[in-house]
Parts: sequence; C-alpha cells; structure tokens
Amino acid sequence: MTDLPATTQRKLGLVIDLDTCVGCHACAVNCKQWNTGGAAGPLPDHDPYGAQPSGVWFNRVHSYEAGDGAAGRTVHFPKSCLHCAKPDCVTVCPTGASYKREADGIVLVDMDKCIGCKLCSWACPYGAREFDEDEGVMKKCTLCVDRIYNQDLAPAERVPACVSTCPAGARHFGDLGDPLSDVSKLVAERGGFDLMPEMGYEPTNKYLPPRRATSAPSTCAKSAQPEGEIEGRLLKWLDRVLSR
Ligand code: SF4
Ligand code: SF4
Ligand code: SF4
Repeated sequence: MTDLPATTQRKLGLVIDLDTCVGCHACAVNCKQWNTGGAAGPLPDHDPYGAQPSGVWFNRVHSYEAGDGAAGRTVHFPKSCLHCAKPDCVTVCPTGASYKREADGIVLVDMDKCIGCKLCSWACPYGAREFDEDEGVMKKCTLCVDRIYNQDLAPAERVPACVSTCPAGARHFGDLGDPLSDVSKLVAERGGFDLMPEMGYEPTNKYLPPRRATSAPSTCAKSAQPEGEIEGRLLKWLDRVLSR
C-alpha cells in the first residue's frame, strides 16, 4: 500500500505472520526509533543496560516454547495495539483522550487530554497500552499515523516503521475492511485470526498461525515465569492456535 487518502472508511491494521517471525526485535527497535521522534514521542528509556530496564515500547516481542523436546519449536509473538473495532479502552476514558478514528479505524490517544488515570490500560485485555511515567500520560501504537499519511516520505516508505524493517517479511499493513486488499487475501489464504476473540473487542490486526513443526505440539510455556493474567490468557490462546 502506498498513498492513503483519509477520506474513505477503512480498517487499517497489521497482519503478523507467527510462522516467519524470527524474534529478532527489529520491528520493536525501529518502532521505538521512529516514535521517539514522532507524534507520540519521546518514548522514555530508563536504565536500558542495567538489571531492571524499563520504558515505553509500543511493540513488544514475546517468545514461547511450544511442544516438547525435538518436536517443539519456539514461537515469537509480537504484540502492539490491535486497533479493535470495539475498544473498551476508548469507552472507559473519562476525558475523551482515547478515541477511534472514523475514517480509518486507528485508535489514538490525545495526550493533551489524557489525565493519566490508566483506566484504558485496565480495559485493554491485551496489555497494549504503555504509560509514560515521565510525562504522566498514556501512549500506545499509533499505527505510525505520522508515516502512513506522510507526504514528505516517498510512497514506498508510507508504511509503519515495524513493517518497513522486518527482515523476515512477517509484518504486513493494509486495509482489513476491504476484502480485496492484499492483507485480507493473505488472512483468507492462511487462515488468519483474531487474538483472543472471546474478549469481544474484535481486533483489526490479525495473526497468521505458525505451521506445526512435526506431530502435535500441544502446550506453550514462556522461557521465564508468566507475568500475570494477560500473559496467562496469551499462553492459552497460543495453545489453541498450535493445536488447530
Ligand atoms: S488493543 Fe487494547 S489499546 Fe488497542 S484498541 Fe484494543 S483495547 Fe484498545
Ligand atoms: S489514562 Fe488517559 S487515555 Fe487512558 S483513560 Fe485515563 S485519561 Fe483516558
Ligand atoms: S505500527 Fe508503528 S507504532 Fe505500531 S507497532 Fe508498528 S512501528 Fe510501532
């Protein structure tokens, strides 16, 4: 996709291929680099080389061990805001800072209106919101809205930073509301699906399933201990995906 007029109704989003993602974190790093200087920046980084680094990352890559022994494989799972069709992060916001755009479905935060109450992050079942402790406001993936419509960039560069940098071609961007778009066709061909559809948020982003390594890997575990309720739900979801 190149030039995107903002006047027609679209469902812009990402399609992420869990089969080809190699977990290199290039998408996460380029996301941070672009957005630090972009509309939602700067993005803080505290103690980046220390024992307990922290900061704002709009895109995080988690890695899981699937199956057991020689039959198993590692699944890398990038996660950012999914630009849901029914985003409770928007409906709970008391100030109107969180909003979903009519024209293209992108969910954004107006940082001038955000009071940092964090209601939206509690409402997001995917853990996709990122609180900026330095500025006291909520931030999140903008779908690189300042790239995809940016007339100062060459048309080929008007894609999200994470998509442009992925060396494995595992990230795709386009209009998921158009059944004839490349991303919609890819989802149809590969059996792409929603992340945790039972939550009822109807995420726009889609995931393409990893192919089975050999016979029936059945369980997923994170290399480290699960970090909480959201991670537990993610592991259950990956289990279901891998046993399809
Ligand atoms: S993924 Fe979370 S933050 Fe993004 S639109 Fe959905 S509910 Fe909101
Ligand atoms: S933290 Fe900001 S964006 Fe989130 S609900 Fe509160 S005011 Fe709205
Ligand atoms: S679309 Fe942009 S803001 Fe969202 S994860 Fe990709 S690079 Fe980051």
